[in-house]
Amino acid sequence: MAEDTRLHAQKAPMKLSLHPDRLFPSEPPVRAIARALYQEVKDLPIVSPHGHTDPAWFALNRSFGNPAELLIIPDHYVFRMLYSQGIALESLGIERSDGGAVESDPRKIWRTFAQNYHLFRGTPSRLWHDWVYSEVFGIDRRLSADTADHYYDVIDEALQKPEFLPRALFDRFNIEVIATTESPLDTLEHHKTIRESGWSGRVITAYRPDPVVDPEYPGFADNIARFGEIAGEDVSTFAGYLRAHETCRALFREAGATSTDHGHPSAATADLSAADAETLYAKVRGGSCSSVEAELFRAQMLTEMARMSIDDGMVMQIHPGVFRNHNAGVLERFGRDKGADIPAATDYVHALKPLLDKYGMDPGLSLILFTVDETVYARELAPLAGHYPALRLGPPWWFHDSPEGMRRFREQATETAGFYNTVGFNDDTRAFLSIPARHDVARRMDCAFLARLVAEHRLEEDEAHEVARALAYDLAKAAYKL
Ligand SMILES: [Zn+2]
Repeated sequence: MAEDTRLHAQKAPMKLSLHPDRLFPSEPPVRAIARALYQEVKDLPIVSPHGHTDPAWFALNRSFGNPAELLIIPDHYVFRMLYSQGIALESLGIERSDGGAVESDPRKIWRTFAQNYHLFRGTPSRLWHDWVYSEVFGIDRRLSADTADHYYDVIDEALQKPEFLPRALFDRFNIEVIATTESPLDTLEHHKTIRESGWSGRVITAYRPDPVVDPEYPGFADNIARFGEIAGEDVSTFAGYLRAHETCRALFREAGATSTDHGHPSAATADLSAADAETLYAKVRGGSCSSVEAELFRAQMLTEMARMSIDDGMVMQIHPGVFRNHNAGVLERFGRDKGADIPAATDYVHALKPLLDKYGMDPGLSLILFTVDETVYARELAPLAGHYPALRLGPPWWFHDSPEGMRRFREQATETAGFYNTVGFNDDTRAFLSIPARHDVARRMDCAFLARLVAEHRLEEDEAHEVARALAYDLAKAAYKL
């Protein structure tokens, strides 16, 4: 009998439960301080000033579909890990550029993911996913090959219910405001639908002009032509092209935008003479520029964007330093953004100087810097943001949006830049269901960091409470003018 029970216990699915003290320091007195800090911030509304949710979800308010469509196929964190262990992207339902056959049975895709869920041990994806399963869907067994079908059935059934539609989840997640990211070539029609729908959710856009600013962006010449049509400007001259940006930025501000975003390969900026800029523009528009000239054009455009930000008040973000589409075979077979983006060493000190020389002291400029190169936190970014009034540090980004990444950021940036040159948290995600989990990880990690300062008598507890609230809520609203 005892033998049977033991065998049964071995086979029974393991419990899924989120520990209330997860991510807090393990020393009891420090943990107690972290808990107290977290109690005060855990229920604050979510401010999500930068991310990649699809405005169509909130405009149309249709079901998210099936579990694979929602949680696997769009999530490059998930499929890059599976791919790294030899699992074909085709078997995960990732569309091929040539329209070739890929797995189309969502349950099969889900089973492949479930069988390999152990690969995510120790990663932030595991924290986010477990939170979604437990808190959004109420599942209390751990995901594995044995529970794959149970998960699929529970999630699939839930997604057909009204309380799991995008707007209902938006309200349930206590989201005060969320920003999507669109290019000037986007019609912003979904934002219009949302505004005119009478729904109270605040969904705003952000201006990301990479497709018309980066000469190496696919279809750049066509993009520029369309850009001119949309803006109603003659873009055959640099002056007309800049006016097109000003026009589109105004359209974006009407759709609620308070920020712009620039995803360049580097943080290079430039300050060319009008004549040189005009000559360079003619080259890039004609499609005859070298990669050095393409880089110079992007650099010049960051400085132009800073000038426009001073004029129209939009906060500027730079997300540089990612070597995109590193895997040539995956790029050819599946296209862009398929989990093959790799961080590269990134310079800020020299790169930003032309822009800062021109606008770094202007009280009207607010420039938020991000990095995937952690070696620059203490050496470059914190000293820059700790000096120039125009500069702020964005939160740990992408590969570093993780407990250890957040700890490293605070440890390396705080002593030079303080807390108030940082801008709170960005979830920067398309994975809508994981947004509360991501903010929760950031709140817990910030409380853990502050608890240590209090325990070491470097900060009073009442001050730590103020900072915890600022990091969870106030700083994001202030930095992004929300
Ligand atoms: Zn982003």
